[in-house]
Amino acid sequence: MNRYRHRRFLRSLSSISTSTSSPSSSSSSSSSSRLYRPQQEQTQLKRSANDQKKSGLYGLVGLQAPRDFERLAVDAIDRVNDIISDIKRTQNEKVVQGCRGNAKGDVTVIKDKIGTWREKNIVHQLDEISDTICAVVDVAELCRNTHPDREFVQAAERTYLKLQNFVQTLNGNVHLYQSLIDANLEEDESRTEELRRVAQTLRQDFERGGIHLSDEEKKRLEAHSDDALRHGFQFQQNLIDPLQIRQVELKKREEIEAIPTWIYSGGKKGNRALIPADHNTMNSILRSCDNREVRRQMYEAGNSSPEGNRLALSNLLKSRNDAAEILGFPSHADFMTASMLSKTPNGVKVFLNDLSSRVRDIAECEFKMLEKLQKQIANGGREEKIRGWDVLHLMRQVRSKDDYPDINTVAQYFSLDGVLKGMNEFFGKVLGVEIKVDSLIPGESWCGEAIKKLRVIVPGTDIEGIIYLDLFPRQGKFPHAAHFVIRCGHRQKNGGSRQTASVALVCNFAAKSFSRETLLTHQELETFLHEFGHAMHSVLSDTEFQHLSGTRGAMDYVEVPSHVFEYFAWDENALHFLGRHYRTGEVIPTALLRKLKQSKRAFAAMDLQQQIVYALLDLELHSNRINVENPSEISKLASEIQSEHSFIPSEPGTSWELRFGHTVGYGSSYYSYLYAKCLSAEIWHKEFTNDQIEREGCSILRDEMLKYGGSRDPAHIVENVLGPNTLQESFDGGVYPNSSHLLKELHLA
Ligand SMILES: [Zn+2]
Repeated sequence: MNRYRHRRFLRSLSSISTSTSSPSSSSSSSSSSRLYRPQQEQTQLKRSANDQKKSGLYGLVGLQAPRDFERLAVDAIDRVNDIISDIKRTQNEKVVQGCRGNAKGDVTVIKDKIGTWREKNIVHQLDEISDTICAVVDVAELCRNTHPDREFVQAAERTYLKLQNFVQTLNGNVHLYQSLIDANLEEDESRTEELRRVAQTLRQDFERGGIHLSDEEKKRLEAHSDDALRHGFQFQQNLIDPLQIRQVELKKREEIEAIPTWIYSGGKKGNRALIPADHNTMNSILRSCDNREVRRQMYEAGNSSPEGNRLALSNLLKSRNDAAEILGFPSHADFMTASMLSKTPNGVKVFLNDLSSRVRDIAECEFKMLEKLQKQIANGGREEKIRGWDVLHLMRQVRSKDDYPDINTVAQYFSLDGVLKGMNEFFGKVLGVEIKVDSLIPGESWCGEAIKKLRVIVPGTDIEGIIYLDLFPRQGKFPHAAHFVIRCGHRQKNGGSRQTASVALVCNFAAKSFSRETLLTHQELETFLHEFGHAMHSVLSDTEFQHLSGTRGAMDYVEVPSHVFEYFAWDENALHFLGRHYRTGEVIPTALLRKLKQSKRAFAAMDLQQQIVYALLDLELHSNRINVENPSEISKLASEIQSEHSFIPSEPGTSWELRFGHTVGYGSSYYSYLYAKCLSAEIWHKEFTNDQIEREGCSILRDEMLKYGGSRDPAHIVENVLGPNTLQESFDGGVYPNSSHLLKELHLA
């Protein structure tokens, strides 16, 4: 149900980061090449005859061949080492001056002032370190997920690992940490809120990596962190390892004939078919196969494998909790939520339990509707209770009735070219931006003409951004939808030119073509707008530091603006620009839109229950509540949570948690998705309904949210937009949103 959309950059990497060089570091910066040219210069280059030489793949100057990655990484490391030398020199001078004493007359006073200034410059220097590394490692991350050429992918992987190791050494660099502490910037009220917040998050990031611990504790922390990474990786690998996925053997003819040919064609052997019970195949069969016995077998096989994940999950949870304990947190969930909007796991729990009780009655009605349908299907035969393998099949039957819109008819209103054209006009109104399709500089694209490039500007300002679109599937490409940061935008110090943001939106749309037009389904449009929302967060954030630019903020807040953007896919005003028929230019009819909205609300309560179950399990597993070393306790907890919060029956002997990969990726923060749904609903209904877009635009999105990136406390941003006391608080200071607006919108309250 949930789509994987937002890809967040490694915290450990973004924890160290840039700005233009200060007077004190200009000498060292001159010794190493800048990785990005200022925007103006790039524009001129675009027109020069030497385009290819001066541009680069993904817009990274100097990246033309796989071997260039190695050189770019070495350059970045050299540059960072120069900055570190500068920081150490400042520390040494301070020690020498301290030894001389202070009563040495005017010359020493001036020197002290310079020393203090240099000492206070530490946040800019750390930001520059981070930016220098991110400039290469972000491109390596995107390249290894998208480049069609294996040689590039391998070179990107090597560079990624090399820089990641280098970052580990930076995260453990006591000189850098001590310089930050000595500068004492967090409490310095003469500094901007942004600078103090950057100083605070940098310190916290160092400490969350254990820099303040004893050598013995550091060693243990490192071992647990490595174990957690290893077991998490193992869990994900098992999910795609054919040897770990159970297979269902079908021998009866009527069973084989009951499943679509494309599923069994590869596994047919004589009179039998072997069907792998991987996630996608299982769900396709559970939805579309009329043969109940086949569905049962698939459900049981899919929900009891990969068997290897019992141990991998148990080990992962144990390592995470052990690491959190060394850092002084009661559990991994406490460790994670401490730096988020939610603050404590308890606030999240209160929120999820409350939401669960509020949707329960309607979910029960929805479930009864399925029971009624089940009876009709039995048609006088033996009446059976709904089992786990019936639910998706019954829901699909309801959704395929006449009063639900036809997916292909709807897609005709969303040609990709039409949507892109409409976005310029529409987001001009909403965000005051201009969006133009730009031509690619030779050498910039990683997949020829499959890549499109948009340039976004805010007229009257120097804010500008580049968005690459890589929207259709191909072999070896990252299989979900995500927003990748290529380069963070930020203002540069001392009036230097702005560093232009650059991002890539990577999706896998099914590419339905009619008369050479590429048409998106409505769900694809919604996904595209969600990712575009992340892109706008990156482009329009106006921070001094890159460390907290754009989407580099708390995970349970970063998803909020992108969820607001999803609403445009359902809004009549927005669809006036974004939803026009590819042939006739006619706007999507109101009746069709109404049907779409109706279909969104079908089973909304049961869908929410499922999300609550996922979020609660993810949270509880990381809360040190059960003995995670015993895999059967984990299964017991999963089944208890499901029985308590969902009407979908928990089937004895099955363990769906073995295939729930989000436990690895989110690590107790899966609830972020529901937080974002609630907050975006409230923002939407307060700021965007009643034709406000038409009348006055909605500058609040740009000026009160996107502009700050992650540089403000998310609770302040939310309360600034929605008013004081919008957020609720649990007894221990946990923070959670109000779910009323979401429930009202879905007709659940
Ligand atoms: Zn997202």
